[in-house]
Amino acid sequence: MTALDVAVVGAGPAGAIAARYLAQQGCRVLLIDPAPDVPRIGESLPGAARPLLRDLGLLNHLQHSLPQVCIGNQFAWGGAQLRTHDFMLDPHGAGWHLDRARFDDALRQAALSSGVMWWRERLGPFSRLANGWQLQCAHKSVQARWVIDASGRASVVARRLGAGRARDQALIAVYAWSLCDSRDQRTLIEAVDKGWWYQAQLPGGRCVVALHTCPAEAAMLQGCRPSWLEQLARTQHLRSFCQADQWSLPRACDASGSQLQHGLSDGWLAVGDAALAFDPLSSQGLFNALYTGLRGAQAVHQALQGQPQALAPYRLVLQSIRQAYVRQIDYHYRREQRWPREPFWQARNGRVGQ
Ligand SMILES: Cc1cc2nc3c(=O)[nH]c(=O)nc-3n(C[C@H](O)[C@H](O)[C@H](O)COP(=O)(O)OP(=O)(O)OC[C@H]3O[C@@H](n4cnc5c(N)ncnc54)[C@H](O)[C@@H]3O)c2cc1C
Repeated sequence: MTALDVAVVGAGPAGAIAARYLAQQGCRVLLIDPAPDVPRIGESLPGAARPLLRDLGLLNHLQHSLPQVCIGNQFAWGGAQLRTHDFMLDPHGAGWHLDRARFDDALRQAALSSGVMWWRERLGPFSRLANGWQLQCAHKSVQARWVIDASGRASVVARRLGAGRARDQALIAVYAWSLCDSRDQRTLIEAVDKGWWYQAQLPGGRCVVALHTCPAEAAMLQGCRPSWLEQLARTQHLRSFCQADQWSLPRACDASGSQLQHGLSDGWLAVGDAALAFDPLSSQGLFNALYTGLRGAQAVHQALQGQPQALAPYRLVLQSIRQAYVRQIDYHYRREQRWPREPFWQARNGRVGQ
């Protein structure tokens, strides 16, 4: 049986960054992930991620994943008028529209070339040993001194260890893709009575459009192209950016903010969405995955060196990110007051999270 320093469950951005860092410090590291079977929503990475990617030596890897430059946001929020936030005025510069499959793959390849092993398997049962963990997958078994939960919102390790997850107001994204030949490289966000729409160009001449709404509305739109298109046609601005046809069938996914409670303990911790997940309005998820992947791995490395007190600063990092996020997201939702009687907006008139 193989014995390792760290098993990282989940090979998304957070897991890949954590695994790579630990391997670079000389640890024996295994990534466990069956590889993405669900197509990911194309997503935007803010320019603020540039210094972090540069410090990690990953800016070139990002370029190889062929992102499309995102030069700004257009938004109709708090009023019907369409306004623009130009990233050229941002100290960090332009952001990127990502092809998530390529981006995630580029980060995984960077981890593998640093010596990380990868089992393309789903995590099976696992149990505590005197000095670490025994983890099983369908065909293999391994021992590791530490486990990092990087399994995204599922937080499979944490949940099985009994750590609860506190969720903010329920938010579901109902999204579809289409071919689209627009040259506008900006993201568009438009608030409507039932929630808010998001539209972004993707590499490869495609675009993604999503309505973020409450579960009851999402249940009526998921899998029903005519109803979803009917809602899209009711938008004032977004519909004119979405002349595309041949939309994929609308899918739904959880997009609520949430946080793991007691997400860090002796011998394991959580990074990325497994620790903290964000409402996509914040555009914070990927940056957080990269940052906490790094900070969590640094804490684990120090613990492996006999400094378990290194976990406390990581806990503080998570707390301060969460506090800043709650302040920011509350501020944004309070700026939209046009539909005070609509359930979606009523639910957000109070605080979004604690
Ligand atoms: C609708 C929507 C829109 C978004 N838009 C943006 C955006 O524009 N910008 C932005 O920055 N963020 C955005 N996000 C957030 C972003 O997608 C996440 O923050 C990011 O993917 C988190 O990365 P992660 O590595 O923590 O988790 P993930 O990317 O979710 O990776 C988790 C990995 O764990 C694996 N896994 C799960 N269960 C198991 C198991 N049992 N065994 C082994 N492996 C397992 C999965 O296969 C997956 O590869 C959005 C999210 C949503 C829902």
